[in-house]
Amino acid sequence: MTARPLPETLERAVIPEPVLDVVASLQEHRHQAFLVGGCVRDMVRGQAPKDHDVATSATPQQVQRLFKKVIPTGIQHGTVTVISRGVHVEVTTFRVEGAYVDGRRPEAVEFKLDVREDLSRRDFTINAMAFDPIRRELVDPFGGQQDLEARVIRAVGDPVARFSEDGLRCLRAARFAAVLDFQVEARTLAAVAPCLPVFRKVAQERVREELTRLLASEHSDTGLRILAATGLRAEIVPELGAPPAPELDRSPRVLEVRLAALLHALPLEAAGLVLRRLTYPNKVIDQVAQLLRHPARLHETDEAVRRWAAALGRELVPNAISAAEVTSGTPAAALHARVDPVLAANPPLRARDLALNGGRIMEVLGVGPSPRVGEATRYLLDRVLARPELNTAEDLEALLRDWAKGQRP
Ligand code: ATP
Ligand code: MG
Repeated sequence: MTARPLPETLERAVIPEPVLDVVASLQEHRHQAFLVGGCVRDMVRGQAPKDHDVATSATPQQVQRLFKKVIPTGIQHGTVTVISRGVHVEVTTFRVEGAYVDGRRPEAVEFKLDVREDLSRRDFTINAMAFDPIRRELVDPFGGQQDLEARVIRAVGDPVARFSEDGLRCLRAARFAAVLDFQVEARTLAAVAPCLPVFRKVAQERVREELTRLLASEHSDTGLRILAATGLRAEIVPELGAPPAPELDRSPRVLEVRLAALLHALPLEAAGLVLRRLTYPNKVIDQVAQLLRHPARLHETDEAVRRWAAALGRELVPNAISAAEVTSGTPAAALHARVDPVLAANPPLRARDLALNGGRIMEVLGVGPSPRVGEATRYLLDRVLARPELNTAEDLEALLRDWAKGQRP
């Protein structure tokens, strides 16, 4: 129960029927069940949650028995995914986290039967509210509503103690500040620096997850300023030294663009090492490397534009322009005005755009598969990048025959 009446936003919140079913079933079987965490925060803010998490007094075994379709997603942490009319609902048993191992995950999870105890283990007050959607009661023991109104990220309990239990929470504070455009409350913020040694022990995968959300958020600059001010940035990307963070908020919320903007001052190799250390997937690393290797500029000639787009990869052109706007200050509109008309003509940029395919090239040269075919292809591509109008079977054959003559000793 709460002293305050239910916030208007929560009164109006529409909770999907399949989620309500899960809560109702648990309660009908005399278990406690609440919506918890991010979904309650979002509903109180008047935003639609991405997903709905349930916390319950039922044990994972009881949850598994109660529902027909379940996936034991994280049984060791007390989490079972219930599939309710096609909707995945994570149901987690109330917990008190046991001993922490080297500043990371709890070694053992004990099950206790109290939602307040469960909420007290959560990171920030705004994330530590529970809502019973059947009785329509909000449980808010730590002033989460007030902090939402004041737009403040505040640790539940003593911030140094909480950050010492799990160093990732330091970074999560910055992530939520960036996502929500909130301030980190002073004591919570001050707790980050003394907890950096604990943060250092956090697995890079977990760091990457939070950093990604921070970078891809609407107020990433807020998050980056917090990272710089607290010493977190020096922990995560010591290679960056202390340059002013670029203004990322202006760029589209595309992870690769923002990573490229963040790392553009580093040598290419160092940037790659940073991303590999953070366990980004190769696809992300490769794209960021391309963006850094071939930055967009106002090229003087159309040919230079084509050669740049060919080297970069045409599909990356919009991202390269977005990144350049942040890193070089050249307006994206000016870059687009330079590049778009050139590419609108659909000039050949790759071997497969050539009017002669590999088979035909071999025929003209009178050879089978061999390195010469590759050389010939590169030659033809080079010619059509200079003069796209040469990309006809006839002209390329003529070029190829001349090239072959010139190749003979
Ligand atoms: P989002 O909508 O961005 O996913 P979220 O609040 O759901 O935000 P999650 O990281 O998915 O964030 O975590 C779900 C909930 O679990 C949080 O709201 C918080 O209550 C709790 N939580 C998650 N990670 C931690 C942590 N490291 N320490 C304490 N509580 C945590
Ligand atoms: Mg979530």
